[in-house]
Amino acid sequence: FRKYLIAGNWKMNKTGSEGSDLINEINIALGKQTDVGVAVCPPFTALESCAKALEDSNVQLGAQNMHPKSEGAYTGEVSPVMLRDLFCTFVVLGHSERREYFKESDAFINEKVLAALDSSLKPILCVGETLEQREANETFAVVKEQLVGGLKGVTADAADNLVIAYEPVWAIGTGKTATPEMAQEVHKMIRDELSSLLGAGAAAKIRILYGGSMKPENASSLMDQPDIDGGLIGGAALKAKSFVELVEIAS
Ligand code: 13P
Repeated sequence: FRKYLIAGNWKMNKTGSEGSDLINEINIALGKQTDVGVAVCPPFTALESCAKALEDSNVQLGAQNMHPKSEGAYTGEVSPVMLRDLFCTFVVLGHSERREYFKESDAFINEKVLAALDSSLKPILCVGETLEQREANETFAVVKEQLVGGLKGVTADAADNLVIAYEPVWAIGTGKTATPEMAQEVHKMIRDELSSLLGAGAAAKIRILYGGSMKPENASSLMDQPDIDGGLIGGAALKAKSFVELVEIAS
């Protein structure tokens, strides 16, 4: 009953023309499939060319970050209005790379989540523990804190527009994937937490994606889990072949 979502986070990869080339390949391979939601999240500088390449496609566009304010003196930042203007549907917020390298706090990420929902952008809120936190048995506490902090002020009517991504930091770009059982355990905890924050009806609708070295070889056992509703894909989203295979596995 939850439509799967396969979203590619390109991170700091692809120029405008490289991005539109990749999308052209993805479009040809996927045609007009509608079984699975598919999105690509290029860097800001490639959004415009990618939006053009997606004009007749069911693949949707997302950004990887944004500032919560609509405009103003925030040098180097990009606003929700600007993302809407470039036909973005989604925006990745609170990615662990932003939390770690750019010191983004739950409170700042929360401002962005609220601003995105206000601007009709669908936030993909990322949560996940580091290796150190997992080894100290803090996974549930850390993920719960990120969820509660990131979703402050969000109400049940956001359920259709909100996506959560569980990305264990130790699995990102490392080739190490959480086992399906390990991932499911956290996804279930996330859904229970969503249920206590937003109600059971809303929690049942919200898609929870897994991210962290997801690739065609491990995707089906992960997506077979009851609370895993798709993937947020890094490395494997940079090649049409593996990205399209992941969409096919989710279908
Ligand atoms: P990888 O798939 O490269 O591990 O990256 C996952 C990720 O961080 C997606 O946001």
